[in-house]
Amino acid sequence: MEKIIDEKSQGNALILDAKAENSRKLFIESYGCQMNFSDSEIVASILQKEGYNTTQNLEDADLVLVNTCSIRDKAEQTIRKRLEKYNAVKRINPKMKVGVLGCMAERLKSKFLEEEKIVDLVVGPDAYKDLPNLIKEVEEGRNAVNVILSKDETYGDISPVRLQSNGVSAFVSITRGCDNMCTFCVVPFTRGRERSRDFQSILEEVKDLEEKGFKEITLLGQNVDSYLWFGGGLKKDFKNASEIEKATATNFAALLKLVSEAHPKMRVRFSTSNPQDMTLDVIEMMAVYPNICKHIHLPVQSGSDSVLKRMNRLHTREEYFELIDNIKKIIPDCAISQDMITGFCGETEEDHKDTLSLMEYVKYDFGYMFSYSERPGTLGAKKYEDDVPEEIKQRRLTEIVKLQREHALYKTQQYIGKTVEVLIERKSKKSDQQWSGRTTYNSVAVFPKENYKIGDFVNVKITDCTSGTLIGKAVGYSGNN
Ligand code: SAM
Repeated sequence: MEKIIDEKSQGNALILDAKAENSRKLFIESYGCQMNFSDSEIVASILQKEGYNTTQNLEDADLVLVNTCSIRDKAEQTIRKRLEKYNAVKRINPKMKVGVLGCMAERLKSKFLEEEKIVDLVVGPDAYKDLPNLIKEVEEGRNAVNVILSKDETYGDISPVRLQSNGVSAFVSITRGCDNMCTFCVVPFTRGRERSRDFQSILEEVKDLEEKGFKEITLLGQNVDSYLWFGGGLKKDFKNASEIEKATATNFAALLKLVSEAHPKMRVRFSTSNPQDMTLDVIEMMAVYPNICKHIHLPVQSGSDSVLKRMNRLHTREEYFELIDNIKKIIPDCAISQDMITGFCGETEEDHKDTLSLMEYVKYDFGYMFSYSERPGTLGAKKYEDDVPEEIKQRRLTEIVKLQREHALYKTQQYIGKTVEVLIERKSKKSDQQWSGRTTYNSVAVFPKENYKIGDFVNVKITDCTSGTLIGKAVGYSGNN
């Protein structure tokens, strides 16, 4: 069960309302994490001003952009396959230009142009504002590459257009890059060092979303708990900030307070948290403001101290338990989810058992589980041997997925008989007659439509469940509408 975000949206062409004055057609699709989907909205916003409307028809496109993911080898292979498809279309429409954006662009740089002859444009995650110039280069017959990583680019000044939006929930990016240097992870190399976005521009974006009728935002970053606005620049340079900058800096707990206080009817989510950076004041803030959703995505990756150490996760199993205990003490009903990796370098059967026992202790509501995929250039690839055979990685993965399913079912069963608030997001995938939405705990709930509509907050009495879905019946509007 490999999953980052809704698999169904992986690779979907993203579209927005057409502008009559725009004549060029952009086909843009995204793979990978939520940050990539959010970045594609920034790209579409930049290109809308350059005369592009979006299209869902590859065959019609003047420009095809694919926002790529490098997190595992499989993600890169999926994109290579997509490039083959573009190639076939380019044979019919030779004027069509193809650009690769995002993490794979950053990782492979100009090598991409040699390896994939159909690619005209290679643009890293910090260079999207340069797209208009780069596209001009391409139109004049030259290939164009910009993979420069930035110290301060946060795209805070760009108001993203919302692609394929349900008009209810939106992502708001708050940090870029990552400083954590987990040894398995390619992100610090593809997205650069960590920097935070001006809280004023975050507040303005949330205000704008509320005015447009959005009901829920997710504050996004590789490591949101590390958010720190002190006037701009890299987080690692905070130590050189002036006394006044240090004294007036805004951390993640303060940002949460600002956003949730300014918009008490807006649901506020955040992702991803890193255990080593999550502080008690964040959990306390979640307990104070009812509009901050009671769910923490808290990747742990392994339950074994020796594996955590080799992964350069800067906490122990005991410290993680302490954090979990504190969350449960401060917010007893808080949902917790995980990311887990099986078969990291040197992982023994004992280490794997530690992961299973950690899962037993926490009983996560849901999780995203992966087998280790060595990424070139990472510290893991340089320092350690990828020595766990593939079949063992997969067998361990199957075991943790099975255990997670049991826990997920146990968790959803706890809601049977209870009434929970659900924000309606869309039609249920299984039935036209049912709405689908999420609870504060991030569980999906489905129930008969009656006269409710998308964007309504509804109290739903839960009568049944599967391991992934609550099933119920609406009993009325909640007080939040
Ligand atoms: N910043 C978050 C963190 O590490 O706490 C998540 C970042 S990553 C985009 C999402 C997940 O992909 C990670 O939590 C990890 O479980 C998985 N992942 C990252 N690198 C991987 C690798 N080399 N092999 C397998 N899974 C990997």
